[in-house]
Amino acid sequence: MTAMEAPSPLPRTRVTAHVRSLRFDAGGLALNLVATLGRRGGAPVERMGTVALLREWCAGAGLRPAREAVGEALLAELTALREAAYDIVLAHLRGSVPALPSVALVNECAHTAPPAPRLELGEEGVRAEEQALSGRQVLSLVARDLIEVMGSPERRAALRECAFEACGMVYLDTTPGRRRRWCSMRRCGNTAKAAKHRDRDRDRHRAPGPGRVPDAVAGPGRVPDAVPDAVPGPVPDADSGARATAPE
Ligand SMILES: [Zn+2]
Repeated sequence: MTAMEAPSPLPRTRVTAHVRSLRFDAGGLALNLVATLGRRGGAPVERMGTVALLREWCAGAGLRPAREAVGEALLAELTALREAAYDIVLAHLRGSVPALPSVALVNECAHTAPPAPRLELGEEGVRAEEQALSGRQVLSLVARDLIEVMGSPERRAALRECAFEACGMVYLDTTPGRRRRWCSMRRCGNTAKAAKHRDRDRDRHRAPGPGRVPDAVAGPGRVPDAVPDAVPGPVPDADSGARATAPE
């Protein structure tokens, strides 16, 4: 690959299966739901767009909805709750006020009581009863989790937005020094660093006059970090066929 000629404010990114995969590392149930829409800072990527993916998300999030509860209706309701939750978290991060309907929707969802936990006694002792959740109970658990985050000064202060602009994922930074800048070093940390490195190489390559850096310096093999999600230019999107290299 050669250095790119056209400058771009954000690294062009490829929507790989990796980018579309569900995330469960945002730090909590509600934030994991918010993360089912990826790349909020650029061209958003829907990660939970089908009932099958909704089922997968519930399983990954540790929720056990009743079979009949998982359908298009719950998908639509969770998606609406997701955007309300994002609005509330983002408003906090930006020091602004969320929309009233966002707050009202979270409160409405939280109104339903989740099932009371129960122990069952078997031959081998006790264990927690596994109860299938209704759709309303799923929504309630997510909404209550968000209220818990926003209601806890400590957790609220740990809310962050990924420093890789195209990503924009919100997460809880629970590291001791609270200096985590990216949702994931492996994903966005490396991508951002590689993009920065590439920009620096490009600038050096363009430097006028006799001091112009030869191609050997800015040529292939100059990006040291793994670049899982970013590529320096338009590429064929082998595995999605959509949203490849969307301008951001
Ligand atoms: Zn990120």
